[in-house]
Amino acid sequence: MLPATRSLLPAFLMRFIVLGSGSGGNAAVVEAGGIRLLVDAGLSAKQLVDRMKASGVDPASLHGVLLTHEHGDHVRGLRVLMKALPAPVYATPSTARIVRDSGVDTASWKIFESGAGFQLNGLSVQSFAVPHDAVEPVGFVFRHEERSFGLLSDTGHVTKLILDRLRGVSALFVEANYDDALLEADMKRPWSTKQRISSRHGHLSNAQTAALIAELAPSGLRRVVLGHLSRDCNCPVTAAATVRASFAEIEVCCAEQDKTCGWWD
Ligand SMILES: [Zn+2]
Ligand SMILES: [Zn+2]
Repeated sequence: MLPATRSLLPAFLMRFIVLGSGSGGNAAVVEAGGIRLLVDAGLSAKQLVDRMKASGVDPASLHGVLLTHEHGDHVRGLRVLMKALPAPVYATPSTARIVRDSGVDTASWKIFESGAGFQLNGLSVQSFAVPHDAVEPVGFVFRHEERSFGLLSDTGHVTKLILDRLRGVSALFVEANYDDALLEADMKRPWSTKQRISSRHGHLSNAQTAALIAELAPSGLRRVVLGHLSRDCNCPVTAAATVRASFAEIEVCCAEQDKTCGWWD
C-alpha cells in the first residue's frame, strides 16, 4: 500500500526538480499521479533533506528512491538517508548488489531488470540500458496520462535503444558533461581520465547531447534540463548554446551543482 503524497500537486500534473547535478553529486525528484520519487541520492543526506524541504518535499512522503547506477556521485547520501526513510530503493540487480554490499540498508529493495518497466499507481516507469562504466546503468522514462519525462544521466554515447525509448517524451533531463574543446584544453586531468570521460562508456559531450535533442525534437520534445556539467570542462552558456544551435525552438536550462533548479511542470 503506497502512502498518500502530502502534496498540493494535482494528480493530473507531472513535475520534476533537480536537487543538484554535477560530478559533486546528483539527485532529482519526480512527481506524478500522486507518486513522488527521488532519482539518485548523490548529494550528502543533509543536503538531500535540506534541498527537498526547501522545495516543499517532505522526505517522509517519498514513495521510493530510484537509482541510475552505483557511482558515488549518484548514491553518496543513500546510506544515511535510508536510515530515516521507510521508502523502498528501486535498482537493477547488479546495482542493488553493489550498493547493498557498500552498507546501504533499506526496509525493502525493489529490483527491476534493466529494460523493464513498472507501475506505481498511475505513474509508469520504464527503464532502459545505457552505455556507461558502471555495472548495470539505466535511464528512465516516466509516463502519466499523456505526459512523459525522460531522464538520461551518465552515458558514453547515444544508442538506438536510447533514441527509441526517449522518442515522444515532452521533457528531458539529460547530461551535457563536457565541451570538446574545453576538455581537450584542460590541464588538470591526466590523459587517461580525459580518455575515460570521452569514451563510449564515459559521458556525453555538449555536441552529442545537442544531436540527441535534435533527433528527439520532431517527436514532441519541448523542454530540456541539461545536467552533470563539468565545472572545468563546460559552462552553462556554452552547453545551452550548443543545444540551441542544433534546435532553436527548445526551452533549455542548466541544472546546477550547488542549488536546485526549481520545479518544472
Ligand atoms: Zn557514473
Ligand atoms: Zn555521475
